[in-house]
Amino acid sequence: MPMRPETALIHAGELRPRIEGAVNLPVFQSSTFEVTRDGDYHDIRYARLSNTPNHTVLCAKLAAIEAAEAALVTGSGMAAISATLLSLLGQGDHLIAHRTLYGGTHDLITRDLTRLGIEHTFVDADDPDSWGRALRPSTRLFYVETFTNPLLEVVDLAGVAAFCRERGLVSVIDNTLATPVNFRPVEHGFDLVVHSASKYLNGHSDIVAGVVVGSAARVRGAKHKLDHLGGSLDAHACFLLHRGLKTLALRVRHQNGSALRVASFLEEHPAVAHVNYPGLESHPRHERSLAWFPGHGGLFSFELVGGLPSAERLFSRVRLPTHAPSLGGPETLMTRPAITSHAGLPPDERRRLGISDALVRLSVGLEATEDLIEDLDRALLP
Ligand code: PLP
Repeated sequence: MPMRPETALIHAGELRPRIEGAVNLPVFQSSTFEVTRDGDYHDIRYARLSNTPNHTVLCAKLAAIEAAEAALVTGSGMAAISATLLSLLGQGDHLIAHRTLYGGTHDLITRDLTRLGIEHTFVDADDPDSWGRALRPSTRLFYVETFTNPLLEVVDLAGVAAFCRERGLVSVIDNTLATPVNFRPVEHGFDLVVHSASKYLNGHSDIVAGVVVGSAARVRGAKHKLDHLGGSLDAHACFLLHRGLKTLALRVRHQNGSALRVASFLEEHPAVAHVNYPGLESHPRHERSLAWFPGHGGLFSFELVGGLPSAERLFSRVRLPTHAPSLGGPETLMTRPAITSHAGLPPDERRRLGISDALVRLSVGLEATEDLIEDLDRALLP
């Protein structure tokens, strides 16, 4: 039976009949499982092979909510990204990627993949002319993020998917910031979707986890790579992610609305120089974001008049936002990407990309929006 996302989050993939009638799938705290029939190595049930009941039920739910054939859960978002890229690329291959990416992904591409003989070209994923120039006979894939972290750009996603289809490249997208509530990339022609499930999918800031979704064959490729790299998610973390997912739609819709109100408040505030949020009319791709997404997500970034000293003053004066990296949890988190998520980039590269030392990133949580606005207003008083 086809299910709407809210229903799929609760019912998709669940075992019927329920085990001993338990409404929630129990944690199968067993690393290995009895062999009941002959098969090959990948049929053996073993926690590292991501195929215990906690994995398979969770993966069926994730595939359903991303409108994909198959899903894989991993020990972190970086495990999902590294297993995916290593399953598709080898020595001598080349990839194209948008120039601003989550810092860990940027480091993986520029440092680790380069050492393995895998080359890259960073492009502006909003400028199709630059894609053609980057193309080589060895190009295998194109990597983008739905809303880029931390500048919240909305690049030409439809164009990237079509470009890849026409040229036989694999399109890979990090959908962490949008979540399947705001965007389902497979429906828009993307081949593989990765997530840091540590963020909105789990939504409680209490585990690190990752997800890969796509066709059964491509997800199987990423799984075999993950099996060898050893990046599986443990059963208890599967249970927590499974539980967190059930409230995803409610949480993300609240965060979409709350972030829009807080970002609008800040944009009007005399102490604020500018705000990067696709929900604001001032965003260069606001119309595109309105057309593609039912909400613009719970994360935005901004700079204050007075630069870094003003940002440091804000951090010392707010009471509700916690000064911490990461995003997508119930509590509002505030960070400076230059010293956290993007600290690995050389400073001049960071500045060239528009990630200044003074840039503040706010992940809006589930608090009452009015309380967040009042707290920021008080902290911004001269
Ligand atoms: N992708 C994005 C957009 C992220 O923000 C992060 C982490 O901040 C990651 C991937 C990496 O995820 P993890 O920390 O779960 O490995």
